[in-house]
Amino acid sequence: MNQIDQKEVGMKVLVAVKRVIDYNVKVRVKADHSDVDLSNVKMALNPFCEIAVEEAVRLKEKGVATEIVVVSIGPKVCQEQLRTALALGADRAILVETEQEVQPLAAAKLLKAVVDEEKPNLVILGKQSIDGDNNQTGQMLAALTGYSQGTFASEVLIEEGKAKITREIDGGLQTLELNLPVIITTDLRLNEPRYASLPNIMKAKKKPLVSKSPKDFDVDISSRYELLSVIPPAKRQGGIKVASIEELVDKLRNNDKVIS
Ligand code: AMP
Repeated sequence: MNQIDQKEVGMKVLVAVKRVIDYNVKVRVKADHSDVDLSNVKMALNPFCEIAVEEAVRLKEKGVATEIVVVSIGPKVCQEQLRTALALGADRAILVETEQEVQPLAAAKLLKAVVDEEKPNLVILGKQSIDGDNNQTGQMLAALTGYSQGTFASEVLIEEGKAKITREIDGGLQTLELNLPVIITTDLRLNEPRYASLPNIMKAKKKPLVSKSPKDFDVDISSRYELLSVIPPAKRQGGIKVASIEELVDKLRNNDKVIS
């Protein structure tokens, strides 16, 4: 892997952003259980991708990053989420336009093609998309590109051609030092994304956004698995009030049989 001297070429950050169902929306499942019902549902930038954009913008504000390119894969309407990312501070956007379902391996292959073209020093992705909860694309992209990977980052420090990534692991923190170029996936506590200001939303409309197709990259995006069914969580039963500890213990022992 060739080491890129960020001082000479400037540090380019590529951020992958996905359009997903808004996290405030109560998800409905289609009557035939074939999938989640997306008709007339509010869509938004995946929250972990918003954190990824914010981190890139902070790196630019610190003078570490020089250019932020955002990329999304999906239908034409993903332009909305790319415009949001541009309003948050990204410089330009790429839409890899397809109406086909894009599973994580296909997304990783297309992102690899964009990485080959753009040659970023740093690629930031969300740790997972909240629609499919896959948590795969960043890791697959690292494998396909051969770049180092720091997943679930809760702190990122870029210094002298290296990235120091702090990761939240069971019961503590793990800090890794990685050679650039590097793939980072964002954890929830990495930062708190800003809101886009109205002037920046207006400015974002004029920032460059190019559309490409998977065919431009000669990438096979066919599905590798089939979604068989989606079952909504069971409805919660109403609670009851008990008059005493004795009654509670009795119910737990004899009704619910969770203690003996
Ligand atoms: P996943 O592996 O689906 O949980 O997604 C993890 C991350 O990969 C997301 O937060 C995005 O940064 C990126 N990603 C996945 N799918 C797409 C897509 N269709 N377009 C752009 N980025 C994506």
